[in-house]
Amino acid sequence: MKIAVLALQGAYAEHELILRQLGIEYFEIRKRDDLKQSFDGLILPGGESTVMGKLLRELDLMEPLKSKIEQDMPVLATCAGLILLADKIENDSSVHFQTLPVTVKRNAYGRQLGSFKTQENMLEIGKIPMTFIRAPYIIEAAPEVKILAEVDKKIVAVRYKNQLAMSFHPELTEDSSVHKYFLEIVQNSIELC
Ligand code: GLN
Repeated sequence: MKIAVLALQGAYAEHELILRQLGIEYFEIRKRDDLKQSFDGLILPGGESTVMGKLLRELDLMEPLKSKIEQDMPVLATCAGLILLADKIENDSSVHFQTLPVTVKRNAYGRQLGSFKTQENMLEIGKIPMTFIRAPYIIEAAPEVKILAEVDKKIVAVRYKNQLAMSFHPELTEDSSVHKYFLEIVQNSIELC
């Protein structure tokens, strides 16, 4: 199993650290040539979605990655990564991969609650720590999207086909259960091939 980590900007190193701790092979995607390697799963980290979206287009990575996701490549998307996947962004005409049928609101918690930590239940995993940093949440999800977690009645984690996306940063906690759950999705998709 080999995981590709989008490493243009943001908190990619923290995801890589967890993969190393779990003994999983990975490499970074920084340019078009990096896509010559094969991989079984993709991580889209947190950071700044506008910057990542711009770089994805400039580096000619948007279309090839979008087509892999559409062909069911497993994806773990955290925070800005969720915004990159979303079909619509509230009050914003810019969209990116558009492979996840949800509408997100960016910086949805406003300034005062810009960053916070909580513990909440995530379906299929259990209670986990959740770290939110200028996070989005999902204001609308298509019926076929499975809601995995809500905090204060706001949707913060979903699964749609092989796309696992969340508002918070599991890579910034000691708890690696979200990554383990994602790696199970990757393993199952390898076995199906
Ligand atoms: N606010 C950022 C954005 O809109 C996301 C923040 C994060 O990834 N921690 O892209």
